[in-house]
Amino acid sequence: MKKHNFSAGPSILPASVMERASEAIKELDGIGLSLIEISHRSKEFIAIMDKAQALALELTGLTDKGYQALFLQGGASTQFLMAAINLMKTKAGYINTGAWSDKAIKEAKRYGEVVEIASSKDQNFNYIPKGAEIPSNLDYLHITTNNTIFGTQFHHLPETNVPLIADMSSDIFSREIDYSAFDLFYAGAQKNMGPAGTTLVIVKDSLLEQMNKDVPSMLSYAIHADKGSMFNTPPVFAIYTSMLTLEWLKGQGGIKAIEKHNTTKAQLIYDEIDRNTAFEGFAAKEDRSFMNATFNLAEGVDGTLFDKLWNQTDISGLKGHRSVGGYRASIYNALPLASVHQLVEVMQQFEKSI
Ligand SMILES: *Cc1c(COP(=O)(O)O)cnc(C)c1O
Repeated sequence: MKKHNFSAGPSILPASVMERASEAIKELDGIGLSLIEISHRSKEFIAIMDKAQALALELTGLTDKGYQALFLQGGASTQFLMAAINLMKTKAGYINTGAWSDKAIKEAKRYGEVVEIASSKDQNFNYIPKGAEIPSNLDYLHITTNNTIFGTQFHHLPETNVPLIADMSSDIFSREIDYSAFDLFYAGAQKNMGPAGTTLVIVKDSLLEQMNKDVPSMLSYAIHADKGSMFNTPPVFAIYTSMLTLEWLKGQGGIKAIEKHNTTKAQLIYDEIDRNTAFEGFAAKEDRSFMNATFNLAEGVDGTLFDKLWNQTDISGLKGHRSVGGYRASIYNALPLASVHQLVEVMQQFEKSI
């Protein structure tokens, strides 16, 4: 029996995906070879790459809209510097919603001037700053659509006419947003798509044309795009498994259907956090993440029994990040509703004991 997996990342993937991915390690679709022992230039793997790219665009509504999907390496952390090295001419704007934005800012500063447009640091990043004036002379504006650590999420995108770049590592494919509002967005696979090892980058063709030319090959979006994400050997297993998850998502009814499922899960957990006298939510209500619900014990409540209870009922990965403390329930696409019911039940059981 598998545990109720609330891990923030790497995180839960659909059971059917895990099954097919593990079969492919032994033998890929009856070809007499394993997925991980064939050439990435074989017709079998090229078909996988093409399908993964097509699905990524289809699910985000960007097919034939002048975008490309790239499967790269180095995690979202490499995107922090890739975005800047390719796009920074003189200065760029960043909205700082904590940890991940902080890291993106730090890398960008190596390549030009960083204007911190707004920050929620004054309240330990428990909200999304709104209404900031965005200068029109920036090379781009960078946001983190969902802050995995603090449990905050942009529910309204900033209005700007400079290229909009986003780190969507922890909420890509989770909700219907206007993906065409972005000129480039990226996500490490390991939250909502697949195993660690590949990073999806979706980039507008018109932005590719404007990129800096003197960029090291492995860091150049233009080169990766030109080579169809095969400039060097791609991480075949991570891409195959991501393709399976995207296929699964399409089979579920796509982003529209998964958003409904995610909203149900999020409402269930947040309703309980607000109702239950043993806990209090961390993030500002209007900015709450539908992927990572952060909460703490109410003042004076000892959580020893709660920790025992959730561990005993096969709940895993509930501990909060060290910079927030308390608890974090990550409720990514593949997490079943039953797992959230289990958590709510344990929270209620704990409340009765205090
Ligand atoms: C997990 C995460 C990252 C880090 O991704 P790596 O693939 O480990 O580099 C960056 N940004 C966000 C929003 C994340 O959730």
